[in-house]
Amino acid sequence: MYVDVSEPQAAETAPGLLTINLSALARNYRALAARLAPTAAGAVVKADAYGLGATRVAPALHAAGCRTFFVAHLGEALKLRRLIPDDSRLFVLNGLLPGAEALCADADIIPVLNSLEQVANWAAAAQAQGRSLPAALQFDTGMSRLGLSDDEAQALVDDPSLLRGIDIAFVMSHLASADEPDSPQNAAQLAAMRRFAAAYPGLDICFSNSGGIFLDAGYHVALARPGIALYGGAPTGGIGNPMEPVVRLDVRVTQTRTVPAGARVGYGGTYVTKGETRLATVAAGYADGLPRHLSDRGAAYFGGTRLPIVGRVSMDAMTLDISALPEGALKLGSLVEIIGPHQSLEDVAAAAGTIAYEILTSLGQRYHRAYR
Ligand SMILES: *Cc1c(COP(=O)(O)O)cnc(C)c1O
Repeated sequence: MYVDVSEPQAAETAPGLLTINLSALARNYRALAARLAPTAAGAVVKADAYGLGATRVAPALHAAGCRTFFVAHLGEALKLRRLIPDDSRLFVLNGLLPGAEALCADADIIPVLNSLEQVANWAAAAQAQGRSLPAALQFDTGMSRLGLSDDEAQALVDDPSLLRGIDIAFVMSHLASADEPDSPQNAAQLAAMRRFAAAYPGLDICFSNSGGIFLDAGYHVALARPGIALYGGAPTGGIGNPMEPVVRLDVRVTQTRTVPAGARVGYGGTYVTKGETRLATVAAGYADGLPRHLSDRGAAYFGGTRLPIVGRVSMDAMTLDISALPEGALKLGSLVEIIGPHQSLEDVAAAAGTIAYEILTSLGQRYHRAYR
């Protein structure tokens, strides 16, 4: 008897259920597009669509009207290109490493050029192929991460032949503090973007991530690149989260027990019960993307009841204090909520001392994934 390991684990026996609501994703896309109109809304599907499965998410976004997609690396783009219809553009935000140009061009994938070196490599590829090749040009407006510096931008202005053979789709930059509406960095970056763009009259500007979409419309320009807001994360700290949740995570109980006062729970014995305590061990840990920082801080929910995580989160399991529930309410195989109606993605991120992005992109591969 052989087991087909390519088959995903059945929902009934998987340690957890990750439910991804593609209808909510599409509604989030349309809500952002409506807020942005007449600015176009692209979508960032890097890191496997923030952990949710780019091969399912990208086609759903296309069906919702998206025609411009962004990933971080060429490898991600190569996996996705066949799944996104030819009417759509697919950009590589990090640009290309030397030697990858032909592969990128042949696959109809468009690089973001972030340095003069990348510009030169792409121009050489265009020359080698005897045709012009599309690219986006990114400028560093104050994040010091990716993009042409002031000097590099000036070099392109001084010698436009450096761009020979390159068909510029748009110019772009990235906001560092878009989720902080009061940060003066936002206006400074927009002003810098407009200064860079002045050298390319008539070309579109692509600027805002999720947070930027919730700054004033001056930040919208021609094309936006939301990521986290599509997936239900809060785009900005300035207001409550206007996005619809896309992810639900429930994990299974693998054991329950009652321990006396003074019992130590988990690695290091960090938690000591104060009185007789009912405990449940559940089948997910830090290898499944539940950060160790949730130890003695986070919680699961059953119905409306909060079940605190007690002791350290271990690799494949963690322990909950379920004393607040009636005896027998949880048993082997019961599901408790980690992300859902009682505890949002943002709540879990806050308890773990991190951001929703990190929770989503860390969600492990051991859950049964159901797309609705
Ligand atoms: C990740 C990323 C985005 C998306 O940002 P969100 O905050 O998730 O909306 C947009 N642009 C660039 C350059 C990025 O790296």
